[in-house]
Amino acid sequence: MLVSAEEMLIKARDGHYGVPQFNINNLEWTKAILNACEEMKSPVILGVSMGAGKYMTGFKTVSAMVKAMVDSLGITVPVCLHLDHGTYDGAKACIEAGFSSIMFDGSSLPIDENIAKTTELVSIAKEKGISVEAEVGAIGGEEDGVVGMGECADPEQCAKIASLGVTMLAAGIGNIHGVYPANWPGLRFDVLEAVRAKTGNIPLVLHGGSGIPDDQVRKAISMGVAKVNVNTELQLSFAKATREYIEAGKDKIGKGYDPRKLLLPGYNAMIETCKDRIRCFGSDGKA
Ligand SMILES: [Zn+2]
Repeated sequence: MLVSAEEMLIKARDGHYGVPQFNINNLEWTKAILNACEEMKSPVILGVSMGAGKYMTGFKTVSAMVKAMVDSLGITVPVCLHLDHGTYDGAKACIEAGFSSIMFDGSSLPIDENIAKTTELVSIAKEKGISVEAEVGAIGGEEDGVVGMGECADPEQCAKIASLGVTMLAAGIGNIHGVYPANWPGLRFDVLEAVRAKTGNIPLVLHGGSGIPDDQVRKAISMGVAKVNVNTELQLSFAKATREYIEAGKDKIGKGYDPRKLLLPGYNAMIETCKDRIRCFGSDGKA
């Protein structure tokens, strides 16, 4: 029922659109994303960070919830369940728990150790039809308390990692996690071009997709990016709608405190954000 990211990313690369990776945090996130992608007929990758997995009580819980929800909502678009920025142990745990895709983030390791661990995980994952994402060059900003420096990937290192049989490659090109500062200089298309030239046609991944101007995202997609990660944007739209509901005192009217009512504006806002990103990436109607 869950699929690996391989086929959807090859189609996206060849069709010049981007598959969205929307990160999930709980039931509301998962339900909003799945319903939005079904309505838009977009393939989707559900990203789960190490921290979000722990928050949801473990990867087994996440896997069981997603599989059951895909079934009970009657989702027909391809759904991939993917570990985001996984450790070596986290990647193994997700393979065990029934994820259909993993990212091993060895970007903070010496390149030789990154290569050795990526190679081992690729051989385990391939046997089970699970896709693997590797990373070269830390993505800037903050994710689960880890702050990267926003460095750009070395194209030679990208070529080495791409040759290990990974399904997709995340390469830092000036993108960062979280909210982009006002003085952010923009994506480094020269680095993207150099990475592309050295890595053949492996689908590339753009992390930190929340807040990059749409024209830059589309240009990156036209240059070989086949997967765009979105996390912060859903968090911001959920928080904004929930704050408006509470500031308007709606939780104090009738049974407005009922979580099914209290969380509804945030849920609806996430659906709109997903649909907006899907249109930007061009993945609508591609499922
Ligand atoms: Zn990331």
